[in-house]
Amino acid sequence: MLEIHIATIFPEFFNSSLRVGNIKRSLEKNLVHIEIHNLRDFTSDPHKKVDDKPYGGGSGMVMTPEPFFKLCFHITGTETPEDARNLAEIILLTPRGKLFDQATAEELSKTKKKLIFLCGRYEGIDERVAEYLSTRQISIGDYVLSGGEPAALVIIDAIVRLIPGVVGDYESVEKESFSENLLEYPQYTRPENFMGYKVPKILLSGNHRLIDAYRLERRIIDTYNRRPDLFEKFIQKKENLDIARRFLRNFLLDSEKNDQTR
Ligand code: SAM
Repeated sequence: MLEIHIATIFPEFFNSSLRVGNIKRSLEKNLVHIEIHNLRDFTSDPHKKVDDKPYGGGSGMVMTPEPFFKLCFHITGTETPEDARNLAEIILLTPRGKLFDQATAEELSKTKKKLIFLCGRYEGIDERVAEYLSTRQISIGDYVLSGGEPAALVIIDAIVRLIPGVVGDYESVEKESFSENLLEYPQYTRPENFMGYKVPKILLSGNHRLIDAYRLERRIIDTYNRRPDLFEKFIQKKENLDIARRFLRNFLLDSEKNDQTR
């Protein structure tokens, strides 16, 4: 069972979000165990204060290192950061971290270690937590959130749905966007004709060879257009480059024709 711990000063943030969908299912099936810890329970400050002014001046408050270290020792039953890091993936959420992606979600979903998410608030967390306690620093995107809690939730959701048994149709998870560095193909459902907007004919043909080819083409063209960074990775493999060339040649020729007739 994957054991997940969240360190926060706002435990109530998680009240409803862990009670729905795949996270709820993973808890009910005992595939995942999640514990929320209030950092204020791990400070020696008599007023349960967990922040202080920044050394060197500057605006705002910085979270003190003590509650983060104490909490990780408590969760892992250790007394040193080295021992805690051996037993747990200690993930510091920060805009200064490595950008979260599907590959990291897959890696974390397979870990045998406990996962501990450290959520910051205010101006962030004393850098000694990053340097001496955390095993990795993760950002969920190039923007600044008010706290690490939404980031922890995003990452936990992405991890949990990769654990076999959580999502009913595991095959659907394996074929989603970002697998093989391609976005997923677009999906359609009933009705076939909605206000005159029609489902692509090929999907109604019943010819699975043609449908597979159409879907692969859409994956390649959409990735090429929207996510050149992913597309670059996809064509690193020679066989992928050949496939991409074939589909894109037609696509680029069609776009040229459309431009000329406009
Ligand atoms: N002053 C910090 C900076 O500019 O890097 C931002 C602090 S932010 C207001 C407070 C907390 O939100 C951070 O300590 C971190 O835990 C979390 N956070 C904000 N943006 C994030 C992001 N993109 N990814 C992950 N965590 C984030």
